[in-house]
Amino acid sequence: MKPEIHPNYEAVAVTCSCGNVFQTRSTLCAPLATDVCNECHPFYTGKQKVLDTGGRVQKFADRFGMFGAKK
Ligand SMILES: [Zn+2]
Repeated sequence: MKPEIHPNYEAVAVTCSCGNVFQTRSTLCAPLATDVCNECHPFYTGKQKVLDTGGRVQKFADRFGMFGAKK
């Protein structure tokens, strides 16, 4: 490879919102956070799940409070 023209391509740790952590390589060269991974995505688990990233469903329920919100 030609020197000085390629970005660094280093091992980085990816942390999923489900708690799964795995290693990959990236030119980002910094730890990465994801919302879904192969451990928790319904396509791989075969289970249906509500993706409530950052409590958005709860936020909606708090604001409008009627549709299926558990009291
Ligand atoms: Zn995950």
